[in-house]
Amino acid sequence: HEAKKYKNSVRLFSPSMQEKYLGRIRIEQALRKSLDKQEFFMVYQPQLDANGCIYGVEALVRWEHPEFGLVSPAEFIPIAEMAGIMPRLGHFILATTLREMKQLQQELGVCFQVSVNISVRQFMEKDFLEKLTREIELYRFNKIALCLEITESLFIEDIDYILPLLYKMREIGLSISMDDFGTGYSSLNMLRTLPIDELKIDKSFVDTLLDDTAAQKMIQNIITIGKNLELHVLAEGVETNAQEKLLKSFGCDRFQGYLYAKPLAYETLKDFLKSQPLNL
Ligand code: C2E
Ligand code: MG
Ligand code: MG
Ligand code: MG
Repeated sequence: HEAKKYKNSVRLFSPSMQEKYLGRIRIEQALRKSLDKQEFFMVYQPQLDANGCIYGVEALVRWEHPEFGLVSPAEFIPIAEMAGIMPRLGHFILATTLREMKQLQQELGVCFQVSVNISVRQFMEKDFLEKLTREIELYRFNKIALCLEITESLFIEDIDYILPLLYKMREIGLSISMDDFGTGYSSLNMLRTLPIDELKIDKSFVDTLLDDTAAQKMIQNIITIGKNLELHVLAEGVETNAQEKLLKSFGCDRFQGYLYAKPLAYETLKDFLKSQPLNL
């Protein structure tokens, strides 16, 4: 009798759903263990100004699991958030990035801007800014240019909490970038009131830029909005010279993508920077 009941309930799930579910549980279990096993590391992707000089890097997390291989952060960050692992993982991301940027300053004698992605849950952690400030102090920077990349989805949360916090962040010298801009929910009026420094045009628009007039118009609109609000506008996912040329003709002033460099692990980044024109 029990067996039959079990069988029936199992049939509620399609095989693909079951696979997905198992995959998710396995990833979640592995994630919990992986922080101690040092399976995470950071990579840094250079960001260039309109003159082709590197002024900053975006920090991106990587997870190399012995069995799963390299798992995409687009896949494991949402799982880490839901499993409540993000506070620890977020701490690892910030601490590692700050430590390696300090080391880069000491080894190359240069100070780059570093942009760190902050997930919604991470931003909404009650003591996020206190922890961040403490972490920055720990490394005793003479100079640090830290940018936080947030997404439009943050503004689904309590704006009366978020807005003062953003102002506070600005006050202590952090800059704020709106990542994946154009894909989410954002009103022009709200954008006007936000203390941000940069709009980051989503890669999906850049991908289709050359053969899709709708994407072109979207990008032109984003750049116009950015210009009017006196923000930098960065295009991410730039892969070809033709894309760069068109983006420049539209007035885009910051660039990031495989055309210039892939996200690089610390040592590779250091070697790469030695060979490049820098804007510091
Ligand atoms: P994102 O912040 O929008 O990052 C841009 C993604 O585009 C990165 O993928 C980057 O490697 C990729 N990319 C950059 N240029 C090119 C290009 O020219 N061609 C192609 N095909 N791809 C390019 P990645 O590293 O896999 O990250 C995916 C997403 O995961 C990120 O999107 C971000 O939302 C999230 N993520 C990554 N690292 C972190 C992190 O440390 N913390 C948090 N909270 N989220 C992160
Ligand atoms: Mg980003
Ligand atoms: Mg992005
Ligand atoms: Mg993206």
